[in-house]
Amino acid sequence: MIGVSFEAFVVFFLVAGLLIVVGLWFFYDLRDKSYYDRQRSLRAHHCVRCGALYANRSETEVARCPKCGFENASLRF
Ligand SMILES: [Zn+2]
Repeated sequence: MIGVSFEAFVVFFLVAGLLIVVGLWFFYDLRDKSYYDRQRSLRAHHCVRCGALYANRSETEVARCPKCGFENASLRF
């Protein structure tokens, strides 16, 4: 029989469970942070020529309309 006490066995499973919970916490926190950063980088545009609403991920304020090709500035709220 392996000489492991009951207290060491309980402590091992408590620490293992705690490490799993903390690991999942950090994993989902980082995943959600990257998801919301991507969502926040979207810019909304309204085409003044054809009236289309579209979104763009580029860093510039101006984006070309996918329907008519006219360049529009991003909307500001
Ligand atoms: Zn357009």
